[in-house]
Amino acid sequence: YSAKEEGQGYRFFTEEMNQKAFERMRLENSLRCALQQDQFLVYYQPVADHNNQVIGMEALLRWNHPNLGWISPTQFIPIAEETGVIIPLGKWVLQAACTQAQKWHDMGYPDFSISVNLSTRQFREPDLTEMIEQVLAETHLAPNRLKLEVTESGIMDNPDDAIAKMHILRAKGIHFSIDDFGTGYSSLSYLKRLPIDILKIDRSFVMDAPTDKDDQEIIKTIIAMAHNLRLDTIAEGVETREQQQFLARNGCRMMQGFYFGHPMPADQFEARLCSTLPQHKTGDRTYFL
Ligand code: C2E
Ligand code: MG
Ligand code: MG
Ligand code: MG
Repeated sequence: YSAKEEGQGYRFFTEEMNQKAFERMRLENSLRCALQQDQFLVYYQPVADHNNQVIGMEALLRWNHPNLGWISPTQFIPIAEETGVIIPLGKWVLQAACTQAQKWHDMGYPDFSISVNLSTRQFREPDLTEMIEQVLAETHLAPNRLKLEVTESGIMDNPDDAIAKMHILRAKGIHFSIDDFGTGYSSLSYLKRLPIDILKIDRSFVMDAPTDKDDQEIIKTIIAMAHNLRLDTIAEGVETREQQQFLARNGCRMMQGFYFGHPMPADQFEARLCSTLPQHKTGDRTYFL
């Protein structure tokens, strides 16, 4: 855009649209070239087991916009989905995360699992399974270390197609988690049909768990149901010791949240792994948070 064109564009949009729509338009336009201009980063958030030991990490996208600064994925992921930008962007995140995980493997760190979020739009791509297999082949990451996070609504958009793709990927060793579990609209009868391994208990239930009786019951019910269906559980958004204790006491095997660590850049994650105590007693190295 020349300065003149941009000025005219602005006048047009303030006349025709509200400020919000204009902001969105601006994000949409800059999102299209953000990938080529290297404006994205992948952050990693630790996943802990019931002993507060790091057993995995979730890759979370960060966008550093040259003028607007850091923009939350909750803002740009929906736009990336609508515009289709999520297709190249989703592949880029997967490549970055698998490359990083394999690098840490080569450096001798224990084989943490790496979780990557998959959007509904990506699920609809006919070559999704080939794309993922190609990234695994290129990065040399063992497929059983990759966990793909999908939402109930992402699957329910076209369940038969989604389930077929999940079966193909699962046959390669890839695991699936249901993200934000409990907030979707899917029926429980679908749950047993889904080739999944983990339920991620949504942060909204964890938030007030130490005090709110209803949230406590919901969490206990999800854990019991997961157990009966032979699924694992990860609690999301664990921020306090009270929440951690409540969840551990009720048999939640894995947890993720600010209590264990915020999402952070790869070098920071690595520094943290180095600075925490390697346990040499058993001979194999484990890392505590
Ligand atoms: P999500 O997959 O459910 O990721 C968890 C979100 O909760 C992350 O927000 C994380 O920073 C935040 N979080 C983690 N622990 C805590 C905690 O203790 N307290 C609170 N208040 N928040 C916590 P983030 O990074 O802003 O991402 C938001 C959402 O954007 C993600 O939710 C996911 O749905 C989407 N997203 C992020 N990266 C990607 C990506 O690479 N691809 C796709 N398709 N979606 C992504
Ligand atoms: Mg997730
Ligand atoms: Mg979530
Ligand atoms: Mg979410």
